[in-house]
Amino acid sequence: MPSRFPDFRVLVPHPLPVGGLVRLKDAFDAVTLWDAPDKGAALRAAASSVRGIASTGAQVVDGAFLDQFPKLEIVANFGVGYDHIDLAAARARGMVVTNTPGVLVEEVADAALGLLLGAVRQLPQADAFVRRGDWLTRGFPLSASLRGRTLGVLGLGDIGRAIARRAEAFGLKILYHNRSRRDDVAYGYADSPLALAQACDILVVAAPGGPQTHHIVDAAVLEALGPQGVLVNIARGSLVDTAALIAALQQGKILTAALDVFETEPDVPEALRALPQVFLAPHVGSGSVATREAMAGLVVDNLTSWASGAGAVTPLT
Ligand code: NAP
Repeated sequence: MPSRFPDFRVLVPHPLPVGGLVRLKDAFDAVTLWDAPDKGAALRAAASSVRGIASTGAQVVDGAFLDQFPKLEIVANFGVGYDHIDLAAARARGMVVTNTPGVLVEEVADAALGLLLGAVRQLPQADAFVRRGDWLTRGFPLSASLRGRTLGVLGLGDIGRAIARRAEAFGLKILYHNRSRRDDVAYGYADSPLALAQACDILVVAAPGGPQTHHIVDAAVLEALGPQGVLVNIARGSLVDTAALIAALQQGKILTAALDVFETEPDVPEALRALPQVFLAPHVGSGSVATREAMAGLVVDNLTSWASGAGAVTPLT
């Protein structure tokens, strides 16, 4: 397979990890937009000859965006979630869309367990307590516990299963809800998000974003978790009704929440930031150097494989 395609122009609207970017620039006629002095002018100058786009979640890819590129063949997305991409619009224009499955699964699952432990045992608060010097005058309050709990996975896909495997090792009972029951796991199945929440006291959200899952975690689901309930969201902010979550936390209807993703990220509501018991992270689920480079590598692999005529490596079907 050839490794250089100087006649294949690839648009890179937002930065990629450096290793992937070097490979991309080496293999293609890469047009990087974020460092162009005049982004609009750079885009207009390149649009008619762009054949590939290396996109990130920062770029909404809808029909109007795609229509700027008459020669576009492939959108290679950096990330596994693609709720910012209008797949039907791309397909209608004969374009292929790829994502980065597999390479980030274990990293995100690690982060989910870190968030869960941090929220239940109040570890960020304990760290702040030591740093403030409060330990000199008093002990840190006792926390809630993971012992004896049941963890419900809302979206038992690649990441959900990796989370469930880890949670098993922590001695937790596992339940899940997907639209379809899996025949390859022994975990108990709940036939709705509400039934899942009624049967567990930790709810981990790991289903895709998009219209079908918008606010799938609402006030009723949160209340069903109960006063010791813990919500962990490593999926997309859109799956959780943020106003209902804030109310449930303020009123003690659930115990705490650990959130990596937000409806309006990076702008996190002040009311959420003001809650002392929650654990908030800036969308870092896959955010290790190695994993982000592996994701960028798969973006470049998809583009090179496509440009060489061998088809995409991980197309969305
Ligand atoms: P995946 O393998 O496709 O799994 C998604 C699971 O969700 C499937 O089991 C699916 O089962 C279920 N699902 C889909 N629609 C549903 C619905 N309406 N109701 C209930 N369950 C539903 O995806 P993944 O690789 O595990 O990734 C999951 C999501 O995590 C991604 O879409 C992405 O947004 C997010 N993510 C976040 C980070 C981060 O940094 N925080 C990193 C990577 C990914 P059924 O089809 O049977 O319903």
